[in-house]
Amino acid sequence: MKELLDWAESLQCAVGAFSVGNMEMVMGAIRAAEETNTPIILQIAEKRLASSPLHLMAPMMIAAARRANVPVAVHLDHGLTVDCVRKALGYGFTSVMLDGSLLSYEENVAVTKQVVQMAFEAGATTEAELGVVGGNEGDTAEHVITCTDPEVAADFCRRTGVDALAVAIGNAHGNYPVLPELRFDVLEEIDRAVNVPLVLHGGTGITDEMFRTAIGLGVRKINIATASFDAYAAAAKECAGKGADWFALSAACAEAVYRNVIRHINVFSMK
Ligand SMILES: [Zn+2]
Repeated sequence: MKELLDWAESLQCAVGAFSVGNMEMVMGAIRAAEETNTPIILQIAEKRLASSPLHLMAPMMIAAARRANVPVAVHLDHGLTVDCVRKALGYGFTSVMLDGSLLSYEENVAVTKQVVQMAFEAGATTEAELGVVGGNEGDTAEHVITCTDPEVAADFCRRTGVDALAVAIGNAHGNYPVLPELRFDVLEEIDRAVNVPLVLHGGTGITDEMFRTAIGLGVRKINIATASFDAYAAAAKECAGKGADWFALSAACAEAVYRNVIRHINVFSMK
């Protein structure tokens, strides 16, 4: 993933990191990347493994990435346990995130250092998160958003050696009830304070203009999950209404994800 982030830095754009939960989602995302000749990141969050088991998803995601005719990184999003990070690296994920954002600062530093070392040994990239992004990756419990402190971010990156840092600037997971007010002033300060690429979680529902502003301020990876899951579910409902068979349903769901991914790729490429 580090190579993709460097590529994005050189072009002053961002790489889309698209969450997937089954084969149709993988196929839709890869088709969008290939058609636009744009690298992407395929990712899955640890919390999602309850419905999409790692032992099935990992080999499929890696096979899709290997076969794609554009560079594709395979990333563990929001790893909650070191054990899951270890398993993902064992399957050949090229990037992992350990989300220690709800731990104490010192605990977050310690566990992130451990993950950075594990990832380094596997030749993979590490993402961490500081501050608290709203929502909770599919949980009903909401977290109060706490913006990333730029000085703490600088200390954290220095001490842990992470390759990418997810920031909290008013963004949230899931669908926003109202358009969020992103703290671009905070983002600018974080970008000045740290020397690693920044990651924006909770991309669903953010306007194209806000994406462009964030990219202009150093965001190099943007996570899109809910928009793809919602597009998939809407396509499935439409098919069900028409009494479609499984084959038509499968094709329509892959197509819906493809359209969502391509829409975001076009914004993130900053062309
Ligand atoms: Zn996230």
